[in-house]
Amino acid sequence: MEYRRLGKSGLKVSALSFGAWVTFAQQMSEEEAGACMTAAYDAGGNFFDNAEAYARGKAEEVMGRVLKRTGWKRETYIVSSKVFWGGDTANEEGLSRKHVIEACHAALRRLQVDYLDLYFCHRPDPNTPIEETVLAMGDLVRQGKVLYWGTSEWEGKDIAEAARLAREWHVAPPQMEQPQYNLFERHKVEVDYAPLYDSIGLGTTIWSPLASGLLTGKYNTGVPKGSRLDMPSYEWLRKNLEKTLQDGRAQKVEKLGRLAAEVGVALPAFALAWCLKNPHVSTVITGASRAAQVTENFKALDAVVKLTDDVMKRVEQILA
Ligand code: NDP
Repeated sequence: MEYRRLGKSGLKVSALSFGAWVTFAQQMSEEEAGACMTAAYDAGGNFFDNAEAYARGKAEEVMGRVLKRTGWKRETYIVSSKVFWGGDTANEEGLSRKHVIEACHAALRRLQVDYLDLYFCHRPDPNTPIEETVLAMGDLVRQGKVLYWGTSEWEGKDIAEAARLAREWHVAPPQMEQPQYNLFERHKVEVDYAPLYDSIGLGTTIWSPLASGLLTGKYNTGVPKGSRLDMPSYEWLRKNLEKTLQDGRAQKVEKLGRLAAEVGVALPAFALAWCLKNPHVSTVITGASRAAQVTENFKALDAVVKLTDDVMKRVEQILA
């Protein structure tokens, strides 16, 4: 495993990590979730990603029980939560001081840990001033309940503003973003956040590196039984992704598959290795519905050398 600094912080995060969205407490059993986490940990993965929204808190409960059962030393792993979608009443949503603090306490209980290594604002909240959220996060850091805080899918200018306020008030600034990043979704990581890597030392923990499975090629000939897009509760995702396939992504995935085969790499590993090539990516959060996928995906680091300058150029031509 390779360990990368989370931006300019001192925290070292495994280049490949593992997250709980869709799968934990929904698509797979607790036993399989444990097997996935163990496969990731045994391969050197040290970061497990979660959120209050995943299966309405149940994903964190599963992860907490697995962490407890395995007995892994707390120093050897990093665990996260995200705040935004916590429930249906007026103050269980968003980034108000009240919800940021209450959601943190609830996540600590569900994950059965004393502190969150990483705590993300899951989306920007137009109904809360950034100042309020920055101060609430600063307090959690000062109390030792959160070690590093960050954002997910915020605009670069808002992250810069949060960092400016934090510096002015001597409270902990945002340290990392969690954007979508893969062969098809590049703007935030490559353009919007570009000035922030140097100016505030932003790290990135990127999500959906396989575009929910699209970049494995499995959806090019329909929706396989038991796959993510076959889940009735994710029909909205199936509709979105099927539209992008019709709009030209299917042909691109096919061409990428041929290029991957030519360089002797399976397409999932190729797509993950492409993400790993970007030095501004601190960690690629992988997802899996079974442990065998984790084992396969964590081999992507070996594929990075195969993505030479020439191969990277050909990828650009395919995506153009
Ligand atoms: P991916 O895009 O990598 O999709 C993962 C899914 O693809 C798996 O569950 C599996 O689905 C399929 N898959 C993975 N590996 C393989 C393989 N080798 N062969 C065939 N199929 C494979 O990542 P996710 O979308 O799961 O995102 C990763 C993590 O990022 C999440 O768990 C979460 O922690 C985080 N995230 C954060 C978001 C945010 O807003 N901050 C939003 C979304 C995710 P199946 O077997 O069902 O086909």
